[in-house]
Amino acid sequence: MDAQHIVVIGAGIVGASIAFRVASRGARVTVIDKDQPGFGASSHSFAWINAGAKEPVGYHNLNRRSLEMWPRFADALAEDVGLRWGGKVAWEAEPEAAKALVARVEQLQSWGYPSRLVSREELQDLEPALNIGVVAAADYNENEGQVEPQLVVDACVNRLRELEASVMSGVQVLGLRQDTHNRITSVQTTAGDIDADIVVVAAGTATTAVAGMAGVYVPQAESPGVVIRTTPMPSLLRNVPVVYAPPLEDGRREIHLRHCPDGRLMIGEGDQESLAEDDTQAHADDLLARACQHLPGLKGASAVPVPVGWRPMPLDGYPVMGFAPEAPNLYVALTHSGVTLAPALSQLAALEICDGARADAVLGPYRPERFAGMTPEAASQMEHPRARHR
Ligand SMILES: Cc1cc2nc3c(=O)[nH]c(=O)nc-3n(C[C@H](O)[C@H](O)[C@H](O)COP(=O)(O)OP(=O)(O)OC[C@H]3O[C@@H](n4cnc5c(N)ncnc54)[C@H](O)[C@@H]3O)c2cc1C
Repeated sequence: MDAQHIVVIGAGIVGASIAFRVASRGARVTVIDKDQPGFGASSHSFAWINAGAKEPVGYHNLNRRSLEMWPRFADALAEDVGLRWGGKVAWEAEPEAAKALVARVEQLQSWGYPSRLVSREELQDLEPALNIGVVAAADYNENEGQVEPQLVVDACVNRLRELEASVMSGVQVLGLRQDTHNRITSVQTTAGDIDADIVVVAAGTATTAVAGMAGVYVPQAESPGVVIRTTPMPSLLRNVPVVYAPPLEDGRREIHLRHCPDGRLMIGEGDQESLAEDDTQAHADDLLARACQHLPGLKGASAVPVPVGWRPMPLDGYPVMGFAPEAPNLYVALTHSGVTLAPALSQLAALEICDGARADAVLGPYRPERFAGMTPEAASQMEHPRARHR
């Protein structure tokens, strides 16, 4: 029997990872991206691999499982994808915020997660270059890390080509042809029609529109975010690549920064789901100036603004993974935290696509069915997922 032809729409970190996994399993794969692979949300990501900021416990465990899968996944990609460990530190200066941080650490510890409170001295010892100021409470999640999404996507594409998969960039999907049982028979693109046995929709923020071409409703919330970069700097952080520092003035948000393996720093403000659209040079300069107050060694760096990034954000904030009842050979793969979750979600998707398995024990809460019958009007009434994540 001929291998099934799997067409993956979207070559961000999620689609590229799924394509790599299914091609490794012997399937015939075509990946289609309207742009260059990795140029969507994946190129704007802070790319912090974590489970400490995730709840409830089931979603936390999924993120933790994926975090722990990263080393093997990176090995399988057989290139340096910038995977580095060392953890994350955060501290709070105000009593109310400190109370919340302590409660969070206690909750994570009750889930068996290696998060712990550290003293000001230990924090300073971990990172001597930090200007820490007042510490009402501080934590250290020693198991968290970072990766470079573009390198991950590039490695997936390289392995896909070796596996004789077809990777089509600059080709846009325009429609999905269906038979009388609503099964997709071919994908209509700017480069012509492509026959398909199974179609994976991993089109990021465009997943709603692309799945909608087959009558599948996958609602999303709008979630713009801005993370700037700096020019490369010599190593400033000794142990911990991801730092969350409290605001130094009333009305400001916390600053988070990450030291990338190529020497550049990424700087954002607020928590991981904070909405932000100011991608001007002035805002980038302001973020850098605030980061300098916490990490004085940054003086001399220049701020490089990055255009606003739109997070793929399922309406309730949780992944949407699985075959859609309305189009039984269409597999939806939409998630926030796709950098953390790529190893686990791509492995589970490959099991379901290649083996016909149903990984319900893990993916049960994240099926597309939960939105069946929802209208865009009802969706617009729902609380923004930002309110449920930290
Ligand atoms: C500011 C910011 C900070 C973040 N921080 C973190 C973090 O610290 N940790 C973490 O785990 N996650 C983080 N995320 C989330 C993470 O980056 C995303 O979940 C992940 O990149 C999503 O990958 P994706 O492949 O689903 O989407 P994308 O990377 O957007 O890929 C989708 C692809 O589909 C293609 N496409 C769309 N429509 C079509 C069409 N019609 N035809 C063909 N191709 C199409 C696009 O060109 C694109 O390349 C952050 C995101 C942002 C924006």
